[in-house]
Amino acid sequence: MDIARNIEETRRSLPAGVTLVAVSKFHPAEAIREAYDAGQRVFGESRAQELLAKWRALPADIEWHFIGPLQSNKVKEIVPFVSLIHSVDSEKLLREIEKQAARVDRVVDVLLELHVAQEETKHGLSEAECEALLMSETVATLARVRIRGVMGMATNTDDEATVRGEFHRIRAFFDRMKARLGERGAAFTEVSMGMSHDYQLAVEEGSTMVRVGTHIFGERVY
Ligand SMILES: *Cc1c(COP(=O)(O)O)cnc(C)c1O
Repeated sequence: MDIARNIEETRRSLPAGVTLVAVSKFHPAEAIREAYDAGQRVFGESRAQELLAKWRALPADIEWHFIGPLQSNKVKEIVPFVSLIHSVDSEKLLREIEKQAARVDRVVDVLLELHVAQEETKHGLSEAECEALLMSETVATLARVRIRGVMGMATNTDDEATVRGEFHRIRAFFDRMKARLGERGAAFTEVSMGMSHDYQLAVEEGSTMVRVGTHIFGERVY
């Protein structure tokens, strides 16, 4: 893999204002270093232990995003240094992040994960659940957690209309919530959607942040 070339090519294909999260899960620190040397600073990981090890091994100016399923008992490990958690899907998690962020005197940015794809999964909120959470008393009182927007994944299919439709729904939901939040929604600016195989469609449908792994680093070896 020519990681530097892939980084440059991916970046060139994105409009200004769309953040590239280079998803480095399961790839070694040396691969991340290559991307870093090509100018990439934002990386996404999906496991707390792996994120912690890489954070220790790599330059301090990297922005680490957590994109995987998050268990409450792992929040404590990542909160001291994580830049953005994409995968918050419960009030319980929000409360735990609030608690751990207070402990280390930080404000932590998060996205609420929406479930719109057809695949069965335990992760992600329905639109109704997400809206209820956003408008809840709990969220109104959070001092250490800043909800920056939403994250979503489209169905893993070659059917472009399905994928486009799901991205469209995520963006439309975001726009509705942004309007409902009004002044409280000043920091609610991000729509994280699009992976290696569908990020171009996601960008066309209004993504502000794409999470690209395979296209940059090659296939993952689990
Ligand atoms: C692994 C992962 C990605 C990156 O997937 P690629 O197909 O390798 O680009 C993006 N988002 C999430 C949530 C992931 O777990």
